[in-house]
Parts: sequence; structure tokens; C-alpha cells
Amino acid sequence: EAKALGTGRRRVFDRSTSAQGHRLLQLETGLREAVARGELTLVYQPVLDLADGRATGVEGLLRWTSPEIGSVGPDEFIPVAERCGMIGQLGLWVLGRAVADLASWRREGLVDEDFSVAVNVSAHQLTPELPEQVARLLAAHGVPTRNLALEVTESAIVEGREPRAVLDTLHTMGVTLLLDDFGTGHSSLTRLRELPLDVVKIDRSFVSGVSTAPEDRALVLGVVQLAHALGMRVIAEGIEEPEQLEQLRVAGCGAGQGYLLARPVPGADLVAALERAREVCAPRPVDEYAAVH
Ligand code: C2E
Ligand code: MG
Ligand code: MG
Ligand code: MG
Repeated sequence: EAKALGTGRRRVFDRSTSAQGHRLLQLETGLREAVARGELTLVYQPVLDLADGRATGVEGLLRWTSPEIGSVGPDEFIPVAERCGMIGQLGLWVLGRAVADLASWRREGLVDEDFSVAVNVSAHQLTPELPEQVARLLAAHGVPTRNLALEVTESAIVEGREPRAVLDTLHTMGVTLLLDDFGTGHSSLTRLRELPLDVVKIDRSFVSGVSTAPEDRALVLGVVQLAHALGMRVIAEGIEEPEQLEQLRVAGCGAGQGYLLARPVPGADLVAALERAREVCAPRPVDEYAAVH
């Protein structure tokens, strides 16, 4: 044991490994209490119709601030929650929060009838119980099924028959299904055709190059055309620059979200964020001129 730690290099490696182990343990322990201690919040990023600048809905994104650890991003804690069997509990909290918030926005007349809320769903959540849980939540809050959207990734669906059956049930119920991060992972055109999907979300790694890299522009154009041919809508994610917004419009991409339009905000700030986003996104004659010439 002591001999294994002989070289400096080895010791550094071991120390960082145990620091990582410590962090994981800390996250896991913290997550077990996070729901009960009210440390989770859901923030909302507006999704806009690129043709007219109207907000069509929001994507709910999970945030966790622990008094001991500080704030931790979902890219770090979601995989931990998946590994330690906590994702079911977190996922239900997210669904409950999103549906309750949408119900109150609708009651207060802050959003249209067709305004939707989307939440991200892990592979582990695609269990036979999910459709029943979703139906119960929607009924309890009086929210129509079509106003709820679930975002799944390709890797979530690749894994087995059961997730597919769950998606079919949800789709039959009228829940909107989105394929998130399209173009990353093991994209398959066959899967696009066979799955009960309503919307394809183009990953921001392609959006970032849409105004500068001809290859990315070609890819985005291809995905938009393919999705439309298959009867699906398209949302571009991660729009940060006005030039990207313009190129996405030219490509015929119907909807988008990104820091240019609005960052994710707490529900209390939603109305202000929707108004600002609408102003940024509203097509101006000069933009249309610039896009064509
Ligand atoms: P995602 O679903 O692909 O969400 C998009 C991510 O991009 C979000 O990061 C969002 O804040 C960020 N984003 C939005 N616009 C821009 C932009 O213009 N530029 C850049 N650079 N980033 C932008 P976030 O909130 O950190 O979430 C990361 C990932 O964590 C999500 O990716 C999703 O996979 C996962 N996640 C978040 N909330 C949940 C949840 O409630 N459940 C599950 N299972 N996963 C979640
Ligand atoms: Mg998403
Ligand atoms: Mg995404
Ligand atoms: Mg992502």
C-alpha cells in the first residue's frame, strides 16, 4: 500500500481520485435530503416561435443549492442521482413542480392556452409507472395533456424495449415528446422515423456553427428538412448570436431557445423574460433583408 504511493505522480493521482470519491459521496448524501429540505428549484427557459417571436412554451431546468456544498449543476448531479437510485424521486419532483407552475400561470392568465412546459426525463424514469404518474399530476392540476412535453435523449431510448413502450403510452395519452440533443450520441435516421416523436431539438454544438461553418449550416438544414418530411417540428437550442438566429430562420427552423433570447429564469421572472425574448426575437424588416442578401 505504502509502496504503491511511492512516486509523486502516483500520489497526486491517488489524492485526486479520493477527492473525487469524497465529492461523489458528498453529492449523494446531499441529494438524499435535497427534496425534503427544499433545496431544489426549477428554472424556466423560454422557447420562441422564430417566425413571429411568440413564446410557445418553456423548458424547465433543475437547480440544486446545498447549504454545505453550494450550487451544483445538473450536468454533475443528475448522473449521480441516476447512479444512486435517486433520479425517480427527483424526476417526480420536477414533474410536479412544472405542472403546478404551469397551472398557476394559466390560472393567472399569464400564458396562452397552448403554452407548454417541457421537462427533461432520464432513461431510468421511463418506467411503466411514469404514464400513470403523469396522468395523475395533470388531472390534479387541471392541465391538458398536450401542454406537457417530455425531453428524452437518444441514449435514453436506445436502451431497450421498455422505454419504447412507455413512450408509446405517453404519446397515445397526448403528451408531446421531444428528442433532445439531436446529432450528438448515436443518432439514427431509422430511429427518428420509428419513434413516436413530435419535436427534434438540434443540439447547440451545431447551432454554434450555423452562421460560420458551412458544414454545420448544411447539417442544420438537413435536419430541419428531414424532421419536417417526417412530420416533426424542430427547436434549435443554444442560440447565442443574432447571426445564428437569422441562419436558423433561413433554414426554416420553426422554434428556438438560447441565451440570446432568454436565460433560464425563476418562475416569478417568467413574464418579464418572455417579453424581453419576444423583443429580441421579433422579426424586423431589416433582419429579413440581411438574411436574404
Ligand atoms: P439540456 O436539456 O440539453 O438543456 C440545455 C442546457 O443548455 C441547459 O443547461 C441550459 O441552461 C443550457 N443553455 C440554454 N441556452 C444556452 C445558450 O445559449 N448557451 C449555452 N452555452 N447554454 C445554454 P443546464 O440547465 O445546466 O442543464 C444541463 C443538462 O442537465 C440538460 O441539458 C439536461 O440534460 C440535464 N437536466 C437539467 N434539468 C434536468 C432535469 O430536471 N432532469 C433531468 N433528467 N435532466 C436535467
Ligand atoms: Mg432538454
Ligand atoms: Mg438539449
Ligand atoms: Mg444537453
